[in-house]
Amino acid sequence: AKIVTDVVCPFCGTLCDDLEVKVTDDDKQILEVYNACVIGTEKFLHSQAKDRLKVPMKQDEEGNWSEVSINEAVEYTAQMLAKAKKPLMYGWSSTNCEAQSIGGEIAELCGAVVDNTATVCHGTTLIAVQDVGVPSCTLGEVKNRADRIIFWGCNPAHAHPRHMSRYSIFPRGFFTGKGHKARKMIVVDPRTTDTAKMADIHMQLEQGRDYELLSALRVALRGAPLPEKVAGIPRETIIDAAETLKSGRFVVIFFGMGVTQSLSKNHNIDIAIMLTKDLNEHTKAAIMPMRGHYNVTGSGEVLGWQFGYPFSVDLSRGFARYNPGDSSSNDLLRRDEVDAVFVLGSDPGAHFPISSVKKIANLPSVCVDPHYTPTTAVCKLHMPVAFVGVEVGGCTYRMDAVPIHARKVVDAPEGMLTDEEFLKMVLKRIKEIKGVA
Ligand code: SF4
Repeated sequence: AKIVTDVVCPFCGTLCDDLEVKVTDDDKQILEVYNACVIGTEKFLHSQAKDRLKVPMKQDEEGNWSEVSINEAVEYTAQMLAKAKKPLMYGWSSTNCEAQSIGGEIAELCGAVVDNTATVCHGTTLIAVQDVGVPSCTLGEVKNRADRIIFWGCNPAHAHPRHMSRYSIFPRGFFTGKGHKARKMIVVDPRTTDTAKMADIHMQLEQGRDYELLSALRVALRGAPLPEKVAGIPRETIIDAAETLKSGRFVVIFFGMGVTQSLSKNHNIDIAIMLTKDLNEHTKAAIMPMRGHYNVTGSGEVLGWQFGYPFSVDLSRGFARYNPGDSSSNDLLRRDEVDAVFVLGSDPGAHFPISSVKKIANLPSVCVDPHYTPTTAVCKLHMPVAFVGVEVGGCTYRMDAVPIHARKVVDAPEGMLTDEEFLKMVLKRIKEIKGVA
């Protein structure tokens, strides 16, 4: 056996790049995963599952599944996308940037809407950033400089398990030699999460009243009068939190879906960014979304450089339009505006509202994923592929928008295509069907 070092974990947006994986000498099997958290380890071990789907499967009208060849899978996908008037190409967050860019090319050629998982998580963040800009930083700067950390509407203890130990709370950095002893941690969450239990100040606000509490913190920073309670939090606690932040050398606000998907949505992030701006009048401050899928940031970057917009890009008129709420996946599905669905690197079957999932079930549809997922159950074709970050490398973007090259650790099962290879075959076939050079 041998050890592969400097492996990047392809699970969450923390993209830990210090993993070591013990593999057999023939590069076929993973024996042990070191340094990863429990969910990261599972991602590697899952690729070794004995019951892993290895051949494409097609569902007939009666709901019976049968094996098809890779060429048949390519043909079905290419015909579906080429013939559709307005296909939806959704997902992209659990694959590499190389595959994402081919997906964009196909979308442009077919007049598709291309959307990623930000549409149901940090899309509101992206809208807010377009509204008011964003003072941000890298996770390296957090480790080396930050001494005041806020986790707002997120629970890294469970969702990003090594975030606190690698970057935000525990590590000793260049200017943070005392590690967690010199850091103050504020958690804003209606629930008493495991992250909240570790906080110096836990502001257990009333559900959905983030905007008011963010406003109150801005008021407190200015030293202006506050009512007795805001969002269920006593005035003294708000003032204490504001003073704690002001007294720091470097404040970072990390925020998650508890605030991006609660009442006020992008306006919550607008004002959180304005709070960060206000804090910069007293000290240094930055703000960063806790991105979930390991390369959802990459999908936004790739769509950004291809079409100018980070998600919900409608190419059906031959040029890029962007209007979240109109050109976003669930809105299109709900209004019956798409006539085919292509899913890669995500699982809308598990995460979209049931009304949208039912719409997918009634359309020609393809699911490209290493796993058999709830999306598979409602799609007409499932194309299994290699695990990115385990069986194929590629470019990925961490939550702070730093690109990191993921490494291949073991070989994919024989004959298994990567996302990129499959998409290239589909693109080639679509060009033939459409008679494009
Ligand atoms: Fe992987 Fe995230 Fe765990 Fe790091 S924190 S090992 S990136 S799942």
